[in-house]
Amino acid sequence: MRALVTGGAGFIGSHLVDRLVARGDKVLVVDNLSSGVLDFIKDHIENGKVDFSNTDLKDLDALKPLMHGVDIVYHLAANPDIRLGTRITDTDLNEGTIATYNVLESMRLAGVKKIAFASSSVVYGEDAPMPTPEDHGPCLPISLYGASKQAGEGLIGAWVGTFGLQAWIFRFANIIGERGTHGVIFDFIHKLKKDPSRLEVLGNGLQEKSYMEVGDCVDAMLHVISNTNESINLYNLGSNDTCSVRNIAAIVVKETGCTDASIEYTGGDRGWAGDIPKAMLAINRLTDLGFKVNYDSEEAVAHTARVLIQEIMG
Ligand code: NAD
Repeated sequence: MRALVTGGAGFIGSHLVDRLVARGDKVLVVDNLSSGVLDFIKDHIENGKVDFSNTDLKDLDALKPLMHGVDIVYHLAANPDIRLGTRITDTDLNEGTIATYNVLESMRLAGVKKIAFASSSVVYGEDAPMPTPEDHGPCLPISLYGASKQAGEGLIGAWVGTFGLQAWIFRFANIIGERGTHGVIFDFIHKLKKDPSRLEVLGNGLQEKSYMEVGDCVDAMLHVISNTNESINLYNLGSNDTCSVRNIAAIVVKETGCTDASIEYTGGDRGWAGDIPKAMLAINRLTDLGFKVNYDSEEAVAHTARVLIQEIMG
């Protein structure tokens, strides 16, 4: 099996690459290292288990030859910073929608038939019932990032319907764990490293979301792909509960040992415009396939806090 992983030097992508290498797949990582870290996959490259191409997905001509001989594309590359869309309005269009078009078009030209796509819970928007099932609709995302994920899903549906692709679309909850390079736990640890006496929390801290450990996430992806065979396979990936931002702040303060830090809330019901304050995915489609999620949200947060404190504070 030859797999091409876009964003394979990133946080989630590098864990996926670990799993693919472990089971003996041949892997080509395509990543422009805009937020990825080559060190995450350096050992695999040095061992000859992974080929690496520093290519930008916005460059269709550069992408085309990389698709030859590929059996499946795992498309994980994207701008990871949802908040960026509040200041710069074309990043998600270019790094999400256009990049996904280029991936699909280069697949079509090379005859590659299978794609797995990292979408997001944010496609559901903010008025979805909780826990949100995959068949909820209409999906009306409220961030530019969410719009690009929905556009990506739409393009994939079009390539399935028009050119006979087979697709797995994964709507991720908040994915956290080792090698995390962004997100609330990462931010809190950096803030406390800079100033152990105070922790600023965006919003009122009552935001409440599901968190899934990254190992669970990539195992779930591979489990679903191995056990489903529709032309489009749409799955929520998350855990069975939620954790509040207040709780995350308390866990990070405890784990860093900064127990004297004053926790200061900036106020408002969300971290930034376009943030969804409360989100929980229904994951019975995933569990009905026989997948067991190892970490609940709070365990995933505590585990992530411990490993990231090691990575960031040493
Ligand atoms: P990440 O930033 O660590 O990984 C993204 C990777 O894509 C990086 O290695 C980056 O260098 C690469 N990349 C970005 N733009 C590129 C381009 N134009 N050409 C080539 N490479 C490019 O982020 P992540 O958290 O690992 O996210 C992986 C995927 O999962 C993304 O699509 C993200 O939107 C999605 N997702 C993540 C979460 C989460 O909680 N982390 C939740 C929902 C969805």
